[in-house]
Amino acid sequence: MSLDQEIVTVGIDMGGTKIAACPFVNGQLVKDQELREATPQNDAEAILQTMTDMVEQLKKTHDIKAVGISTAGIVSNDGIMIGGCGNIKGWKGTKVKSELEERLGITVEVENDANCAALAEATVGCAKNFDPVLLVIVGTGLGGGIIWGNKVWRGANYAGGEIGHIKLNDKKARRCTCGDWDCWEAYASGTGLQNTSHLFFADPEMDNYKLMELHKKGDETAIEVINQWHDYLSLGMASVINTLDPEAVVVSGGMAQFINYTKLNKKVRDRVVDALKDKINILEGSMGNDSGMVGAACLANFAAQKNDMVTA
Ligand SMILES: [Zn+2]
Repeated sequence: MSLDQEIVTVGIDMGGTKIAACPFVNGQLVKDQELREATPQNDAEAILQTMTDMVEQLKKTHDIKAVGISTAGIVSNDGIMIGGCGNIKGWKGTKVKSELEERLGITVEVENDANCAALAEATVGCAKNFDPVLLVIVGTGLGGGIIWGNKVWRGANYAGGEIGHIKLNDKKARRCTCGDWDCWEAYASGTGLQNTSHLFFADPEMDNYKLMELHKKGDETAIEVINQWHDYLSLGMASVINTLDPEAVVVSGGMAQFINYTKLNKKVRDRVVDALKDKINILEGSMGNDSGMVGAACLANFAAQKNDMVTA
């Protein structure tokens, strides 16, 4: 299913400190009409009401057919927040989809933020002509999303795509945020890179910005640390590519700009099975900070198209 350009939707980016809502027209966000509100703390009812008011406001100037919400956490097929809501207090257990549909009288779709970002890249971003698409988000942590035939791979328990917790080794060398040892995230994320550089540099203040500066100046140790980071990135990526055989791999997140894609493509090519060696296609993401909102709006667009088919 591709985007129906005639349908107007709203994409909502739900965060721990702010909620942003923006109309999505002709496959693009109308950024000068984006609304922003502070996220009410510890109060799901107030969050739902804030979202309702924002959409009602946008309804005054647009014929909105559906709304999509991008949020941290695990979302059930019924649009209920069932866990992992990060820093959004009071959000767990909320029946987001049904509550908002009742208030707004239009279709509401709710999806995990990483899955929304993947859908954005696969629908209107740099991977729009590819299928399946794997998104790898490299920031403080490491996450991702899998899009297959314009659909999010959610898994049996809605927690699919947690690629950051692939195990790279059994050395018990690095603890991961999930509680286990030696996950891909513990080595290839921004935090993982910082941990690696602390093994090479005595400076306790060493961070990724300092490291990148040294790398730019041609510092040999920094070059080695960055090279090792690319090795770690390629290790996990080759495992996921061998499992999924995606037509394109998109990398986004705060660390994506520091990756040398020629180098990464080569390292991954050396590690995947023979059948995939000439097919590796790793791209830098094109959607930036708006990816969640765009993906949510695309999801709403697809839902509205399905509604049209049922009523036609
Ligand atoms: Zn882990």
